[in-house]
Amino acid sequence: MNKGKMLYEGKAKKVFESENPDLLIVSYKDDATAFNGEKKGTIVGKGVVNNKTSNLLMSYLEKKGVPTHFVEQLNDRETLVKKVTIVPLEVIVRNISAGSFSKRYGVEEGIVFDTPTLEFSYKNDALGDPLINEYHIIALKLATKAELDTIRDYSFKVNEELKKFWAERGVTLVDYKLEFGRLPDGTIILADEISPDTCRLWDSKTNKKLDKDRFRRDLGGVEEAYLEILNRVTK
Ligand code: C5P
Repeated sequence: MNKGKMLYEGKAKKVFESENPDLLIVSYKDDATAFNGEKKGTIVGKGVVNNKTSNLLMSYLEKKGVPTHFVEQLNDRETLVKKVTIVPLEVIVRNISAGSFSKRYGVEEGIVFDTPTLEFSYKNDALGDPLINEYHIIALKLATKAELDTIRDYSFKVNEELKKFWAERGVTLVDYKLEFGRLPDGTIILADEISPDTCRLWDSKTNKKLDKDRFRRDLGGVEEAYLEILNRVTK
């Protein structure tokens, strides 16, 4: 499958037309950003790790009944995906306190919740991706009530499946961000990526961070952590 025109270049990926008008080619970069683009860097090999990790997780979820945009991995960095219109929401599921949750509510990281939490951010760089609630999403026509119900159900289903998947590989799924898209007929499917860029993943025994927090917080061993995740995911 040959790449056509580049349609979009984001912080971590480029998106190209493919030979099929219903499919796109996503190309994963090694560029890393954090804090809404304020921190920039390169994580050598990240694009390969994220491409392969995301594809394995999406295929796994598809088998478990969550529809995704994944079609076929083309090479180490490139994947064929279904073309969707992205719902402009970041859907964040948390099992354990960390990151912006800990900061916002003044609690330490590592508190294990009895039930997972769900929150939404409005994907809007100019506004800094503000938190948004379901009433506001519907008022702004970012998604319908029915779409939100579907997104919520899939997000928790993903949580149950991925918690198990990672636990079998000695990894604790702390939190993660999902994005959803609409197919031309309006069907909601899981899109974007699921990778150490978009999840907090801690080693189950030591709680060592194996995700982008190593880059965000200058913890060192960033490349090694990404490779460790790829090793475990392919186990
Ligand atoms: O920063 P915060 O604690 O809200 O992040 C929650 C989860 O969502 C983390 O796993 C983080 O990697 C992910 N996230 C993301 N993209 C964003 C914001 C958060 O992948 N723009």
